[in-house]
Amino acid sequence: MSDLLSDHTTLRLGGPAARLLTHTDPAAWPDLAHTVIDEPTAPFVLGGGSNTLADDTGYPGTVIRMATCGITARPLDGSAVDVTAQAGEPLSALVAFAVSENLSGIEYLAGIPGTVGAAPVQNTGAYGQQISDILTRLTVYDWTRRQVATFHPAGCSFGYRTSIFKAHPGRWTILQIVLRLTRSMCAAPVTYQHLAHALGIPLGARPPLAEAAQGVLADRCQRGLALPGDGPDARQAGSVFLNPPITTAQADVVRAAGGAVRHDDHGVLRASAGWLLQMVGHHPGSRLAPGVSCSTLRTLTLTAHDGATAASFNTVLRSLARDVFNATGIWLHPEPIRLTAA
Ligand SMILES: Cc1cc2nc3c(=O)[nH]c(=O)nc-3n(C[C@H](O)[C@H](O)[C@H](O)COP(=O)(O)OP(=O)(O)OC[C@H]3O[C@@H](n4cnc5c(N)ncnc54)[C@H](O)[C@@H]3O)c2cc1C
Repeated sequence: MSDLLSDHTTLRLGGPAARLLTHTDPAAWPDLAHTVIDEPTAPFVLGGGSNTLADDTGYPGTVIRMATCGITARPLDGSAVDVTAQAGEPLSALVAFAVSENLSGIEYLAGIPGTVGAAPVQNTGAYGQQISDILTRLTVYDWTRRQVATFHPAGCSFGYRTSIFKAHPGRWTILQIVLRLTRSMCAAPVTYQHLAHALGIPLGARPPLAEAAQGVLADRCQRGLALPGDGPDARQAGSVFLNPPITTAQADVVRAAGGAVRHDDHGVLRASAGWLLQMVGHHPGSRLAPGVSCSTLRTLTLTAHDGATAASFNTVLRSLARDVFNATGIWLHPEPIRLTAA
């Protein structure tokens, strides 16, 4: 297994890790933790690398690739079912499992790359669903207390694309999660107009589970929200900026200029980061620096090409954020997490 971080991140950027360990057997966690716990640099845990920007110089400590597998279901009273998934399972495998078992709650997360264990970190979500909505508990390893612990959602400080795990990088490693799903042939109500349109149903209707997941996958492919295996958009980490929170006065200005404004799942008013990038002159396919462009389908997704480095990618992010701030007074914050020694 290569220790080059570029081989383990979807942007395919990043130098070597001093040591790269792959964690596959849940029962072997205590031994693995024991081997790295006293190292001077805290270990960095990597899932699918689809939300990570790794430094060109690599990482001076141990990187643990989370690759544990396993999904089990436990029916409760009524229609509720608790589904336990190991952190290294691909999120797409968990969604496929739920859909095939007629379990509703995560069907709109279809097509999001990455692992189950990373999903609570940024409270991964799409099309009105987010992982925190159906999480009941997480098993984590606490690197400070050197012990396994259980978290319940109330203790996770979940917000829009954030959590206690994102706020305290390196403190906890998520080992497994338990979701409470609902036995049903129908998906949750569709809350996105373009998805309702693509499915040919009214907003608020509940399509069959498999149709909802298929509709999301098709919509993602069409709008540049899927990760292609090859081609000009293959090297990417999805959206590079979070939709920024804005004041009502800023929202009026954005709306008057034709921009999109939406309340997030936590009731905070946000502008579309993609629209703000377009406001400052960018569009799908824009070339931003040698080796860095907007994806061919979507301004908010930046793609890496021959000649790209993590440093140049970062410079582009900083300069885009500055341009948007100078034009609108709104700050954009990067969404991908930096894998860096600093
Ligand atoms: C095409 C594309 C579309 C995307 N669409 C969406 C979307 O719709 N919504 C969305 O929210 N995101 C989206 N993303 C971003 C990304 O896929 C998600 O955030 C995903 O949950 C990241 O999973 P990962 O395993 O790849 O994380 P990684 O990039 O491996 O890690 C991300 C962060 O989580 C930490 N981490 C990983 N595993 C663990 C663990 N077990 N314990 C503790 N910390 C851990 C890492 O240290 C790092 O800080 C998209 C990305 C791409 C490329």
